[in-house]
Amino acid sequence: MTLERLWASWRHQYVSQATEAERQGGDGGCVFCALAESGPPSPENGIVWRGELAFAVLNAHPYGSGHLLVLPLRHVAALGDLDPAESVALWEATRSALAAVEAAYQPDGANLGANLGRAAGAGIPGHLHLHVLPRWSGDTNFMTSVAGVRVLPEALDESWAKIRKAWPCAGE
Ligand SMILES: [Zn+2]
Repeated sequence: MTLERLWASWRHQYVSQATEAERQGGDGGCVFCALAESGPPSPENGIVWRGELAFAVLNAHPYGSGHLLVLPLRHVAALGDLDPAESVALWEATRSALAAVEAAYQPDGANLGANLGRAAGAGIPGHLHLHVLPRWSGDTNFMTSVAGVRVLPEALDESWAKIRKAWPCAGE
């Protein structure tokens, strides 16, 4: 049985912007720094919340609907490089992200974690980011094996609106 992939054209703008930023090199080459400087939260930049030291954005390559990344605004690779205020802000934003995802999606559970370094699977190891991912019993693996079709998540702008509405604390 072949695994069919559904075309996700709604990702195109976000991905091409990120790729363009990556090409520019230097500090400007960090996709996450480019996002941090991309203005207030909007469906276009995918940012769902932004504080003074941290922000949260929809993952451009989601494993499932509601997959968020929570990051410090500053370009920092390691947990140990965060100053105390950033550390608190990052964790508070992570708690809020989880609360928003739970309120918006009512998942059966959630994954929360970080890939530190390329060897651990980080796609962009230079800028620390935490994954928050809602999970459901069965998830889409079931569909993949039974129907031969990978169920793609809802459109990113739809996820953005849901999570933005469900976000529990103040920010931009
Ligand atoms: Zn960066």
